[in-house]
Amino acid sequence: MNKWFLSAELFSLIIILILMLNFYERRWRGFPQRKIYHLCLLTSAGSILLNIFCVNMINYAWNVPLWVNLLCNSAYFLLIVAVSTIIAYYLMRLLFEHIYQKKQQKIFTGVLVFLYLLYSGLILYNLRSGIIFYFNSERLYCRGPLVNFGYGIMGIQLVMLICLYLRNRKSISIPMRRVMRILPPIILLLTAYQILYPDVLFNGGIIVAANIILLVNFQSRRVEQDTLTASGSRKSFHQELELRLGGHQHFQVIIIAIHKFGSINYRYGNENGDHLLYEIAMWLEKLHYSGRSFRVSNLEFTLLVPYTGIVSSRKLLDIIYERFLQPWELEDTSVMLDASFADLVCTDQEWNSTDIMEFLKFSLSLAKERPDHMIRFDESVYRKMEQRNQIIKQMQQCVRENRFQVWYQPIYHCGSGKFSTAEALIRMKDLKGNPVSPSVFIPLAEQHGLIAEVSSIVLQNVGRLLGETDSSQLSAVSVNLSMQQFMSPDLIKDLQSLSSQYHFEPGRLKLELTERVLTEDIPRMHQIMGQLHQMGFQFALDDFGTGYSNLSAVLDCSFSSIKLDRSLIQGYPENKRSAFLVNAMMNLFHHMECQVVAEGVENESQAQALISQGVDWIQGFYYASPMPEAEFLQFLKGQKQAISDTKEERRCD
Ligand code: C2E
Ligand code: MG
Ligand code: MG
Repeated sequence: MNKWFLSAELFSLIIILILMLNFYERRWRGFPQRKIYHLCLLTSAGSILLNIFCVNMINYAWNVPLWVNLLCNSAYFLLIVAVSTIIAYYLMRLLFEHIYQKKQQKIFTGVLVFLYLLYSGLILYNLRSGIIFYFNSERLYCRGPLVNFGYGIMGIQLVMLICLYLRNRKSISIPMRRVMRILPPIILLLTAYQILYPDVLFNGGIIVAANIILLVNFQSRRVEQDTLTASGSRKSFHQELELRLGGHQHFQVIIIAIHKFGSINYRYGNENGDHLLYEIAMWLEKLHYSGRSFRVSNLEFTLLVPYTGIVSSRKLLDIIYERFLQPWELEDTSVMLDASFADLVCTDQEWNSTDIMEFLKFSLSLAKERPDHMIRFDESVYRKMEQRNQIIKQMQQCVRENRFQVWYQPIYHCGSGKFSTAEALIRMKDLKGNPVSPSVFIPLAEQHGLIAEVSSIVLQNVGRLLGETDSSQLSAVSVNLSMQQFMSPDLIKDLQSLSSQYHFEPGRLKLELTERVLTEDIPRMHQIMGQLHQMGFQFALDDFGTGYSNLSAVLDCSFSSIKLDRSLIQGYPENKRSAFLVNAMMNLFHHMECQVVAEGVENESQAQALISQGVDWIQGFYYASPMPEAEFLQFLKGQKQAISDTKEERRCD
């Protein structure tokens, strides 16, 4: 009678059951290969159970019909190689997870199927020949000459996997590289042990080792998943890109940024908002057979797909675009989402994942400004990005070397015919010495964390100038406040210390806000304005009429003056509509006890018409352009001189 030691198999069965429980509890949702892993676990448990069953039947062979023993053992031999075939197939899928090319996968799968069919034929043949196992006349189990043929098949599978790994190393993920470094030696060691000591049944142990190593791989994958949507995280997006780039693969990346999602959360609750994001991620994941979706930031998704040509890549972008023109289901209702889209095609360029992310982000910023909210990254987008990067570098240099300048544009007071106030405007030059418009670099300073430095330069200069002049010479100076500056928790403290440091009346500093700033957080805005107003600072509403016009903001807030934007003044007074609008607005604001400043006045007819309609202040090239501080002081002095000369002349008359 054969003596088998089953303790290792029983132990392996327990471990497999624990793995299965763990797998069901967590379900590894969203992981595409989970069905195959599930099959690995099921067949592993089945093969160990069958082994234990067969051993017991063999031990009591004289009570069991021979054909039952033959069939059960054949089934076991078939199942154990089936398990190794499924594990090999699963490993192959993981190895090819980041490779679009399918040829090697097909060959590998074909060889796996062929080997298994060959082995199955051998098991059938064994029923007659006993070349693998047989029962002798005393019903004792005997090993045939080819009993280790199954191990031979496993060996071939292992060698094939190692070859695949070595051929495609650059596109294989780090957890998978780890698996490929650990698994083959362990399996070889355990198999050698099993062949050397056939009485200690150990096949279950080999299977368990493989399953545990694969599970560890799963675990590291879970960390890379976005917890809310189960799609890839930002980190895994970068890893995926690096692997595709490493393998010189051609791919398309589409980025989708969802806007104004706050209002969805506000109206339907955060839970529904989360659910909607989950739905979007799922829709994206299913959109393309070989595609993978990622949530790269709270409201930004990317989809990575193989690039198969310009037509199909364009079509995919269009499908996504058109989906967002349709409503999304939410509870009992449906909602429309506002989004921007950009895509990029990589066909072996010398890029890395950080470059690609930067290109996508920049493309998105351009897409937002376009009517269709969609753009494809190309040479022209790249050039624009380079220009922007140059400006950012330049700004950093200007901050470091204190090279920003503050210029002043005098503002004409129509009542007195004097220039007693001015607007402070920051100035910067590019590498060639050409001026760069603040409307270009200020938004960049906000995005790249430089706005605090830039604003401080302006405030310090203006504070010093106010301290050095008296109010009869210069009654007030306006400064522009960007959104970040206005919302900064330090603003009140900074302004307070500025006025005490340079000893000027807070009323001499006028803070200009645009309507863009006003449309953000209304309650907070009220609070900040209220506090500053109490301290004596004044407010002007800048660029009124630029498309964000919100009369209720004017009504609500304590603005001492309203600045009509240049675009309104351009056609004035010839254009009847703009003349009607400007005159009506001046009337309205005067009734609200706000002073009106006309911006961008460039010619005499504009100035005359505005003055006749009762405008309070005029700022424009017609009267004076922005100028450096020294020139501005000269300008003020000259005007004083001109006025005293006129007085003198009058007295002589
Ligand atoms: P803004 O506050 O509306 O400033 C007035 C802009 O109109 C200035 O452009 C000025 O040079 C220009 N301007 C004045 N009169 C005329 C005219 O008759 N014709 C024309 N075509 N333009 C005229 P600038 O200096 O290029 O500034 C553009 C914008 O950049 C400013 O618009 C303001 O929003 C922003 N900005 C400028 N300096 C600062 C700053 O120190 N901080 C912040 N946050 N923003 C600033
Ligand atoms: Mg302004
Ligand atoms: Mg303005």
